[in-house]
Amino acid sequence: MNVNPEANAAFMTDLKRLDSKRHVSLIHNMEKDVFGAVRKKTAGKTCRHCGLLLPSDIRRDAAYCDSACKKAAQRAKAAPKAA
Ligand SMILES: [Zn+2]
Repeated sequence: MNVNPEANAAFMTDLKRLDSKRHVSLIHNMEKDVFGAVRKKTAGKTCRHCGLLLPSDIRRDAAYCDSACKKAAQRAKAAPKAA
């Protein structure tokens, strides 16, 4: 999210179209930053699978943003060459 505003807007449009659940979660994270809400210990931590910021209300030791990402990571690990 450090690139120019046009690229950010395109990214957000794509994300909204392709994965509205993460789009909502990302907007939620951004709004929390903007309004200076209390930052918990997960602030700045990213999901090991998709790389998005973890929700601020997730477990402190969480590695994935949700169970779908956790499962996807497990599947990728179990069958790295699956076609
Ligand atoms: Zn994720």
